[in-house]
Amino acid sequence: MNTSVMKTYGRYNVTFEKGEGSYLFDTDGRRYLDFGSGIAVNSVGHCHPHLVEALKKQAEVFWHCSNLYHIPDQQRLADRLTANSFADAVFFNNSGNEAVEMMAKIARKYQFENDHPERYRVISIQGAFHGRSLAMLAAGKQEKQLNGFGPVVDGFDQVAFGDLNEMRAAITPETAAIMFEPVQGEGGIRVMDLDYVKALRDLADKLGLLLMADEVQTGVGRTGKLFAHEWSGVKPDVMALAKGLGGGFPVGATLATAKVAAAMTPGTHGSTFGGNPLAMAVANAVLDVVLANGFMENVMTTGKKLHDGMTALSSKYPTLFDEARGIGMHLGLKCKDGIVNNDIVVKAIEKGMLIVPGGDNVIRMIPPLTITEKHVNEAMTIMEKTCDQLIAQGVGR
Ligand SMILES: *Cc1c(COP(=O)(O)O)cnc(C)c1O
Repeated sequence: MNTSVMKTYGRYNVTFEKGEGSYLFDTDGRRYLDFGSGIAVNSVGHCHPHLVEALKKQAEVFWHCSNLYHIPDQQRLADRLTANSFADAVFFNNSGNEAVEMMAKIARKYQFENDHPERYRVISIQGAFHGRSLAMLAAGKQEKQLNGFGPVVDGFDQVAFGDLNEMRAAITPETAAIMFEPVQGEGGIRVMDLDYVKALRDLADKLGLLLMADEVQTGVGRTGKLFAHEWSGVKPDVMALAKGLGGGFPVGATLATAKVAAAMTPGTHGSTFGGNPLAMAVANAVLDVVLANGFMENVMTTGKKLHDGMTALSSKYPTLFDEARGIGMHLGLKCKDGIVNNDIVVKAIEKGMLIVPGGDNVIRMIPPLTITEKHVNEAMTIMEKTCDQLIAQGVGR
């Protein structure tokens, strides 16, 4: 199947053709509980009526308009994102990769404009994932992803997760910025210690570096705050968003403080599709839902029920799991050494539930933020069946 599609993905043996709320339906009409959300993208579920209406309405107005001209819905979305964050200005792009890569460009340009052209290097953190462009592969430093793609792009250093001494030692006169994910997503739901994040802020302030948050996966309510860095009380200088922002429509955004954004003058960056009216209409509709009263409370209370359920699962099946971890609805189950996380994912799909593997031998549960207790109970029933069957087949023995 799909012989003319480039084979860059290892795909599961299932084909979906329809989505509805927290469920996807395959070509045989079989229903799956979607606790993967297209990797934290379908933040308000599939085909949310408010999003469908916004997209249809915009489709009849106009689809594309060049950034040579003003686009009102860009202004509106930027106003709302800045009103609800540390940031003063937004650049719209089309994907997470682009949003994060622009942060690296901003770091260089900001230092250049502030009499430090020698500062161009960005420090990232082990286990990070920042996207697949040549530069962001260099930032992620994953051997598996870099292998075969030639010389690694210069300008990126990496330090151990949570190790402040190593971070201090890695900073040189050429360092421009520190880039971090408040909770590593692809890296396996690894939550950064809040004191560590505060210390990064202090270091950046003391040395004139930018602190840049990659919230492509954690942003827009995923952790129970609009942005995950808010848990630390620390404000970054720059932030990248994408996945959940469009609820399934491709869109990315790079946000910055006024001082930092001042470095990005006309002609310094651009995107043909960035800020496309369809994307803006849908992202504005996502914000309508996510910013509504009670929405974050549901992420926290239902997220806690899911976390509790996952903890119970890990106690019930100690030969399969080590622990449950994460914040809000950005959750993971760490599998035991010797257990292959993907084997559990495959079995869960057979049983009618979508979960996604992550680094550090974790399975991620990143459902639509709109799920209710009913979905949590359903998930736990399916996960128990999945685990029972794996144990019966001798897995974890
Ligand atoms: C997914 C992800 C990216 C890359 O986003 P794409 O839209 O796939 O380019 C970057 N950073 C983080 C933290 C991500 O989770």
